[in-house]
Parts: sequence; structure tokens; C-alpha cells
Amino acid sequence: MKPFKRKCPYCNTYSTIKDDNFHQSVTYLTIENASKDKSLYNEFIVCPNPDCNKYTLTAYIFDTKYTYTGNRYEYVDGKLLKEWNLIPNSQAQVFPDYIPKPLITDYEEACSIKELSPKASATLSRRCLQGMIRDFWKISKPRLVDEINAIEDKVDPLTWKSIDAIRKIGNIGAHMEKDINLIIDVDPNEAQMLIELIELLFNEWYINRFEREERLNKIIGISKSKEVDKAEKK
Ligand SMILES: [Zn+2]
Repeated sequence: MKPFKRKCPYCNTYSTIKDDNFHQSVTYLTIENASKDKSLYNEFIVCPNPDCNKYTLTAYIFDTKYTYTGNRYEYVDGKLLKEWNLIPNSQAQVFPDYIPKPLITDYEEACSIKELSPKASATLSRRCLQGMIRDFWKISKPRLVDEINAIEDKVDPLTWKSIDAIRKIGNIGAHMEKDINLIIDVDPNEAQMLIELIELLFNEWYINRFEREERLNKIIGISKSKEVDKAEKK
């Protein structure tokens, strides 16, 4: 297999996956049936980061055809029909626990239900977005659209652009002014974009603030210990 780059869903580190950390097996559906031959792949990947070392299991099903390929007959895969993240059972990233629990729960559920019900996923993501604006920016208005407008001059311009871009997408945009609990029809791509926005904002807002405070406290700590040193030398 060709080595590929991948982000581990447990520890969020990027690494190159080679043969040592990868195992794949395939089985074929060859019984005559209404929708022709299929191939099913099971794929194990073990995270090469020694501090993590956890495994993921994914399954893929393809259309396949027993075909003559020049010198022999073999199965040649066609279209990918479905893909399942079995372990962990969603692509949700692990975020630190200083992010409020209800936000993390909405985010994780939005990820886990994305394929099955993009509508439900988008509803959870919008609720999560509203929860974040209320918690982080202490802004609370009846409609999500008003809350988003109220943070325009507070957030970093690039972050604002990504929030604004989401508002312009199809049904998500069309229903921003409605109640967040209203269920709207979206496709899995739109649901995915909302999830990525939530991930971006967790990073931009909560994680940046935490790391900034940590750095500043470290500097304050160093300067305090220097003062103590000075005082002791006197
Ligand atoms: Zn890992």
C-alpha cells in the first residue's frame, strides 16, 4: 500500500500511515442479487504516536465487477457506496474538557448522526453555534442571525469570513433567521461544513484563549520568581 497522511481522531496528531500500522481485508458478495456484486473492505489503522497507539476500524462497500484485466480475471471496484466509521463510531475530534460539556455533546452528536440524518446533525450544529456565542461572547438574542451579527466586530476577520460563508450556503443560510430548533433540509456536505465550522471555532475561541492565558501566566510566574530571587540576594 501507498503511505498516506492521516489525522488520528483520538490524539489529533498527523502522521504517515505505512504497512506496519495498516491492515485491510476484503470480502465479496458474489451471490446473485438485485443489485449485483459488491466488495466490502475492513480497514484497521493503528496510530503511530506512541502516546496514543489506539486503533480505528472503518468499513467500505463498493460496486465491483469480475473483469478480464489483460491477463486474468479479477474483481475491479467501481463506485464507493457507503463508508462506516465503526471504531470510534464518528469522526468527532476529541476536544479539551475546559470547553463546556453541553457544547461538546451537541458537537459529538452532530458528528455521529451526520450520515444518517444531515437534518438532525445541522440542527445540533446550529444549537452548538448558538451555545458558543452565548457562552463565549456573552451575547444572547432570540435569533441566531442577530447573535451572529452582534459578534461581527468582535471576532477576527478571517473567522468572521468563515461564519459568514456558512450563512450563504443553501438552506442553512436561508433558515439562519429562523428558530434554531426548526429542522431544515440539508445534504451531508452542508452538515459537514457546519461541523467543520464548529471545530474551527472551538480552536479559534476556546483553545486559543486557554493557551494564551497559559503562556501569559507562565511569563507572570517567571517574572515573579525572578523578583523573589532578587529579593533573596539583597
Ligand atoms: Zn492517535
